[in-house]
Amino acid sequence: MKKALKIFFYSFIILLIIYYLVTLFVPQIFDKKHNTIREKAPYTVSTNAQNVYNKINFVADMHCDALLWKRDLLKDNDFGQVDIPKMLKANVDIQAFTIVTKSPKGQNFDKNTGSSDNISALYFVQGRPTSSLTKRTISQCEDLFQFAKKSNGEFRVITTSKELKCYISDKKDDQNMTAGFLGVEGAHALDGKLDNVKVLFDNGVRMMGPTHFFDNKLGGSAHGVSSEGLTKFGKDVIKKMVELNMIIDVAHSSPQIIDDIFSITNKPIVSSHTGVKGTCDNVRNLSDKHIKAIANSDGLISIAMFEQAVCGTDAAATAQAIKYTANLVGVDYVALGSDFDGSVITPFDITGLPLIVEELLKLDFTEDDIQKIMGGNVKRFLLNNLP
Ligand SMILES: [Zn+2]
Repeated sequence: MKKALKIFFYSFIILLIIYYLVTLFVPQIFDKKHNTIREKAPYTVSTNAQNVYNKINFVADMHCDALLWKRDLLKDNDFGQVDIPKMLKANVDIQAFTIVTKSPKGQNFDKNTGSSDNISALYFVQGRPTSSLTKRTISQCEDLFQFAKKSNGEFRVITTSKELKCYISDKKDDQNMTAGFLGVEGAHALDGKLDNVKVLFDNGVRMMGPTHFFDNKLGGSAHGVSSEGLTKFGKDVIKKMVELNMIIDVAHSSPQIIDDIFSITNKPIVSSHTGVKGTCDNVRNLSDKHIKAIANSDGLISIAMFEQAVCGTDAAATAQAIKYTANLVGVDYVALGSDFDGSVITPFDITGLPLIVEELLKLDFTEDDIQKIMGGNVKRFLLNNLP
């Protein structure tokens, strides 16, 4: 009996050591496989484009999923698309860090259900809590605040317009500073409980989209099966978000959900990472009608940087979608929403943003327009809409 106990004890210790080693090495294998870039830094841009980029007052990006991979974002990693040293190198002023909590196996653009989940296995090998989607969300929020704490003042998490003003003012004295704010992709992160909107808010979340790749308790996804609009629960969540001044993100929502949101609130709405049907016609991209409605709400259409969103593999394709949107509604409502580290292949990592400026100049945008597109509009939007 004593011997059996000993064997059990040693087996348990060995399993623990193996699990520990898995958490150290396996997450990186997934990360490297899912977040690749077409061309490694450094990037070549014309002196003119670089000069215009260097003069930009505020550089911002509305979407990246870097927190999902449990990568050390304080390190200048030789893989992945975003980390804090790269943000500093690119003079990025604010990056939205959006949280993915569940993604279906065989994820595609046309038809998915919530019956399977890839993130459980990823979270298990990362040594993160797998049990509830709310806990998964909180774990990523905590990681971002930890990075800020350990960054020696180089990185801040912004949660209010007052903090944003303070950061902008401090940055005048010390340029070597960057910031992020938290968002959520898919309100299944609430575990079906309305009270969890406040729980996520209290953990720093300031932007949330109703659905991600599958239909959930709030309503239909652009990639789901039901195509339905907001359910009663979905409407309650939106109202709660409005009450707390959380930003509503319609990326991945079914067209009917977008219509329903506009029918229950006058708040400015964003699409944090999108393409437009006008240059790339597919289910994930915004119709002219919805681009106009978002602009009309004083919101933001943030253009993504990967092939499935812009029907092209380079900065020029993103610039074309920006041009189309600006022609339709004016330059004041267009922004960047790369989807860096969102399991997509991007043309460059975040240090390649000057390549977008190069393409915008070719399309005859003025320096003033470029200031707005590259971040000025996001700055105005966040100052007006953060609590
Ligand atoms: Zn997404």
